[in-house]
Amino acid sequence: MAPRRGRNAAAAPAEGSGAAPAAAAAAAPAAAEADRCTVCLDAMSAKREVTLIPCNHVLHRTCIINWIETRCCDRCFRCPICRAIITELREGGASIQRVRAYGDHGQPTKRYVIIGAYHETEGKILPYLEKVLDEMEVTLGELRASLAVARHNGRDSDNTFTEDMEEELNKLSARVNIYIEMKRAYQAGAMRGWQENIHSSVNNPWNYEEEMRDLRESVKEREERMAMLSVVAAPSTPRAAPKAPAARERERAARAARVTRAHPPSARDVRANARDVRRA
Ligand SMILES: [Zn+2]
Ligand SMILES: [Zn+2]
Repeated sequence: MAPRRGRNAAAAPAEGSGAAPAAAAAAAPAAAEADRCTVCLDAMSAKREVTLIPCNHVLHRTCIINWIETRCCDRCFRCPICRAIITELREGGASIQRVRAYGDHGQPTKRYVIIGAYHETEGKILPYLEKVLDEMEVTLGELRASLAVARHNGRDSDNTFTEDMEEELNKLSARVNIYIEMKRAYQAGAMRGWQENIHSSVNNPWNYEEEMRDLRESVKEREERMAMLSVVAAPSTPRAAPKAPAARERERAARAARVTRAHPPSARDVRANARDVRRA
């Protein structure tokens, strides 16, 4: 069993105690190690921290979020220290919105949405997208509020906390944009090929630009296809309409042809044609 090195595992100094890492290292190496983030190796006090549930290991919030983004699936979302499957992140006793808001575990968002919808909204994509968007909005609101408070309090002389929050805000805003774009694409009917993604295995880190390009191209392709279809469909639609007028039209044309071939139309023919036209 791997030894616990997370901050909580040792009796670490309280947050904001400002313990100098170098001094701590000299006095008690084990404690100093515990006071460092296992992901980035910086001091825990350098950025915001979260507790991983159920193992209670503590890491920087942005570090665990970046870590989540490179995982390949939900089951791979494990604590980087003890490999426990993470079910929740807690900051200051409060639960952070479900971690999916931050990453698709290295998968294209489409694939992740299909899986999520399958588990949570009976496979229905649109309600799932709306659900995730709602969650993200809540988290964004919380983050903005914390950032405002941090700026107001000016607790952060070297800006590490506010920069940390800004990083997360940017990350989450990008994610919200993707989901909005995805909703638009879905509503435009441009996501026919979504199911195919479920079989694709992708190990690249999630990429905002790529996702956005992919979604916008899907919508564009769909729009072009629809435009093409409407051009093809347009002339056939009136012709395909009621059959009776079409038959009468043919009759009338045939009569007109007969008449012009044989002799100029009589006044009676002209009146009959005019009547037909009026009736039509
Ligand atoms: Zn870290
Ligand atoms: Zn752990």
